[in-house]
Amino acid sequence: MITFNNVSKTFQDGFKALTDISFEVKEGELLVLIGPSGSGKTTTMRMINRLIEPTGGTITIEGKDISKEDPVKLRRTIGYVIQQIGLLPHMTIKENVSLVPRLLKWNKEKYVEKVDELMKMVGLDPSTFGDRYPTELSGGQQQRIGVIRALAADPKIILMDEPFSALDPISREQLQDELVRLQQEIHKTIVFVTHDMDEALKIADRICIMKDGEVVQIDRPENIIRRPANEFVRSFIGEDRLQDNEGLSLPSLKKLIVPPVTGYRTRGLAESLKLMRRRRVDSLLVVDNKDTFLGIATVWEVQRRYKEEELTLADVMDTDVLRLHINDSGETAFQHVNNSKYGFVPVLDEQNKVLGIVTRASLVEHVVDQIIE
Ligand code: ADP
Ligand code: MG
Repeated sequence: MITFNNVSKTFQDGFKALTDISFEVKEGELLVLIGPSGSGKTTTMRMINRLIEPTGGTITIEGKDISKEDPVKLRRTIGYVIQQIGLLPHMTIKENVSLVPRLLKWNKEKYVEKVDELMKMVGLDPSTFGDRYPTELSGGQQQRIGVIRALAADPKIILMDEPFSALDPISREQLQDELVRLQQEIHKTIVFVTHDMDEALKIADRICIMKDGEVVQIDRPENIIRRPANEFVRSFIGEDRLQDNEGLSLPSLKKLIVPPVTGYRTRGLAESLKLMRRRRVDSLLVVDNKDTFLGIATVWEVQRRYKEEELTLADVMDTDVLRLHINDSGETAFQHVNNSKYGFVPVLDEQNKVLGIVTRASLVEHVVDQIIE
């Protein structure tokens, strides 16, 4: 669909921004260009709609050399979304979205219908938002308009240069999700620039990693994670996003310990319930005043016997519980946690003092952390 053949760019000041890059964007794919700031992503992208001209090599779209096309006409067939939105402040939302269709002299009925359809696609009711001005919308809403404006004239290609970078994290996630959903309906050829690997992994069909004006690796996200081309890619995707599976191991017990919530053996049941609610736990490790582990009291048991006002934690605790000692292996911890009726196991020192607990969550977290990130 779009092909870069040995493309280079040396700017007028002599700065060589791109050296000999070759790659292809396939029809209907979302290709993410990613790399550190200054690696040449924007330059690469802006050559596709001829806002920047290469100084070497050729770029073709559907086999045609774009340097031989009229740049203005070319641009009208390519949607372009940038970070600073670029909505025209004196035009209403509907006028902004219909800008290119009107330049292309579509008849009114056709573009009015298109604007309505697109606004609905991104969850903005045309009758509510259509006649507002850009400043009357939130940042996320404005950026949605920026995206659908680029889609309005039904271009085959859409270029998006860090379109969500200025948004707060929640709006940003929402727009990423919407873009993925939208793309499933519209199947455009999209080139998307970002410097955020999580964003790339979330939305990309393929990722093209750039560094110092060169393409370092281009592949599906899965392959990039599994087989980074070199150290640069490895560190760029985050050192430990994937380690060799055989290297997956249980850590020493010490690394799995998380702080416990303990209650003295003489604590009353009402106070104990309050403590559990405050700390958001469903059980307490019952200890004596030397912090020696005695048993586990669950919220269910405390509740069941709540009416017996004279009872304390020592009366309702379960003493028949699995426990770990600090020198036990990660393996043992794993087994005990799996076999525990509570989903966690207390870890004790030589004097049976409580050091912490190992939970299912801490094991899962550790294993997942080892595989990804
Ligand atoms: P990215 O989008 O990856 O951050 P750019 O493509 O914007 O990077 O820029 C790549 C390099 O080219 C940068 O070092 C930038 O300073 C340089 N550059 C960009 N535009 C010009 C220009 N008009 N003249 C000289 N150097 C430029
Ligand atoms: Mg840029």
